[in-house]
Amino acid sequence: MATTTEHIKCLIIGSGPAGYTAAIYAARADLKPVLYTGLTPGGQLTETTEVDNFPGYPKGITGPELMEDMKAQAERFGTQVRFGLATKADLTSTPKKIWIDEAIEITADTVIISTGASAKWLGLENETRLRMNAGGVSACAVCDGFFYKGQDVAIVGAGDTAAEEATYLSKLCKKVYMIVRRGEMRASKAMQHRVENTPNIEVLWHSETHDIIGKEAVEGVVVKNSETNELRTLDVTGFFVAIGHKPNTDIFQGQLKMDELGYIDVMGWSTKTNIEGVFAVGDCADKTYRQAVTAAGSGCMGALDAERYLASSGKH
Ligand code: NDP
Repeated sequence: MATTTEHIKCLIIGSGPAGYTAAIYAARADLKPVLYTGLTPGGQLTETTEVDNFPGYPKGITGPELMEDMKAQAERFGTQVRFGLATKADLTSTPKKIWIDEAIEITADTVIISTGASAKWLGLENETRLRMNAGGVSACAVCDGFFYKGQDVAIVGAGDTAAEEATYLSKLCKKVYMIVRRGEMRASKAMQHRVENTPNIEVLWHSETHDIIGKEAVEGVVVKNSETNELRTLDVTGFFVAIGHKPNTDIFQGQLKMDELGYIDVMGWSTKTNIEGVFAVGDCADKTYRQAVTAAGSGCMGALDAERYLASSGKH
């Protein structure tokens, strides 16, 4: 039951690079944005260590620092950044209604959705521990592959992402083990051919990750063959998980057009959704690129789209 009600011109949901960039632009355009962070302020980048591919940081920057900088920049222009999770939405009403933590009811003229996506993990205890300690477990080869230059790594998954990331890693690493749980891959034929034709990728079919070894950092991965039950230890220093992402869009199901995986549909090269005044930016609408810089770019587009919508509807 809502205890507080508030009207906002531009509500931004989510605090990754897309949300903060939308906030910077919306605040500078005097849309007086309010941004709710979600449960992980800063989003996926707060779980990475060094970010070396975000333009403007020639020496690299850590994910948490980058997100703190973006937040500070958004606040500098007057964005109200608040901790809270959007738990329910009625985007079909005018104005749109969003509930935060079940307790606050927001009405909004425009909503910029930047709720991101979450990488799926295997759920092994040592996977979680080493991931949290930045000990060589990652869900993003493009982000972290560089740190394993010349080393041996393993990647689990058999979709397009895993195949693409395995070939990406093969250019940096000495050897890449691809752990595939069935006897075939889900990836497109073209991607499979690329994997097959890369000499330093070894595909381990019918294989499951049994455990990850290492106290402070990955020292090996134990793989179990599900047909023979044989255990094999891979001598690797990096472990990549590419078993899919889940866009954080559950509360908008049934209102916004989405694909079968839950990624929000946007119109052409814009951030417009099927509902006027509602814009989707960053990973919640992008299953292809998923980079901090592309998310930031689409956040900028979302704020510009929101500003134009408000101007054309006489609300700004
Ligand atoms: P997918 O859902 O397509 O593939 C996930 C893979 O992970 C599957 O092979 C699945 O195995 C495997 N998997 C899932 N859970 C486990 C587990 N617990 N243990 C081991 N393996 C597991 O995800 P992707 O991220 O690869 O792709 C998502 C979408 O994005 C797809 O539509 C894809 O085509 C698209 N995409 C397109 C690209 C491009 O066009 N360049 C690049 C990247 C993605 P199983 O097959 O046995 O279910």
